[in-house]
Amino acid sequence: MTVHTYDKANSILEIRSRDGSADPVRPRIARLRSRLAAASGGRFDAVVLRACEDLLDEPIDDSLPRFALRPHVQVEVDRLPDSWLPRYLFYRYRYEVYPAARLLDDFPPCLQVEPTGICNYRCVFCYQTDQVLTAPANGHLGMMSLDLFRRVIDEAEGRCEAVTLASRGEPLMARDIDAMLAYAAGKFVALKVNTNAWFLDERRARALLDADLNTLVFSVDAAEPELYSRLRVNGKLDRVLANVEAFARLREREYPRARVVTRVAGVRVGDGQDIADMERLWGGLVDQVAFVDHVPWERTYEQPPSGVDAPCSDLWRRMFVWADGRVNPCDVDYLSTLSPGRLDDNDSLMSLWTGERYRALRQEHLAGRRDRTSPCGRCNLV
Ligand code: SF4
Repeated sequence: MTVHTYDKANSILEIRSRDGSADPVRPRIARLRSRLAAASGGRFDAVVLRACEDLLDEPIDDSLPRFALRPHVQVEVDRLPDSWLPRYLFYRYRYEVYPAARLLDDFPPCLQVEPTGICNYRCVFCYQTDQVLTAPANGHLGMMSLDLFRRVIDEAEGRCEAVTLASRGEPLMARDIDAMLAYAAGKFVALKVNTNAWFLDERRARALLDADLNTLVFSVDAAEPELYSRLRVNGKLDRVLANVEAFARLREREYPRARVVTRVAGVRVGDGQDIADMERLWGGLVDQVAFVDHVPWERTYEQPPSGVDAPCSDLWRRMFVWADGRVNPCDVDYLSTLSPGRLDDNDSLMSLWTGERYRALRQEHLAGRRDRTSPCGRCNLV
């Protein structure tokens, strides 16, 4: 039997990207490598140097997976000043190579922060359809306080370059989203937001454009109203389209130098989703249009055993912080059964990432025993 795996490193199935490569990256990488080779260098420099050597086809260590910049990532690099390039490579190398090589240091390469766990949609492929998650009495979902958000950002700043504001809920519904974006602005080279764009009014559009985002993803799976509403239950394509159009006009008019790469990304769940149709509708409004693979999030705990025994890369790539401060290794486990704990007076993000619960979970995966842990044994993510 063929086992369908969700390969997190290659989750984009199709992408159409505006060509943005006016400034070829290779000479910039070569200049950076010369500078680093002349420096004495600590851990940060060593990681960046390895990234440069790989990109210049002169790897320092042949035993490690090779690092490369895929075209849609190169667009992000093209928009960065040279002074930010080392931080970007530090992020991207750790994000891609560390999970593949099972390398670990004291902080996750990427932090996924949930400004709110609440969502106005009930997409057919999403865990928001599970009433165990959404019933208020169960207490899984809520709004992150601004104080907690500041604490997360303060600990991440300088340790991690990739922070995504999104997880189980719709971030633009968060009560303090404007203040959160303002607080995180300028602190991370790869600040990202995923949104369904339903609440993308002018105030929030300005907050996003002022936040110096690296990537802004509009989660949209269809180019026809009927299909859109069938997949994105409670959503209407015309409102989302109008919001994204208004965002694009505002950006063009008032933020022409914003580096943010915008992407319409849909979950590929079946027939009728055509990338050419998507490009026709969205291509003039955003930098990239893509389809990503589907993880069966909506029924995680009822899935049959997946048969996958390869370790899950997310255990080396990302850590999630829920709205109430609970930390989790992933959002496939949306009910937090794998949670190593909570950000509180006793535990920091770093202590949880390097702590015993995470260590034991990684060990089970490395030993080929993820089937003994729920829901990892039912999950197809590698
Ligand atoms: S459920 Fe387990 S295997 Fe699946 S993404 Fe989460 S940690 Fe990885």
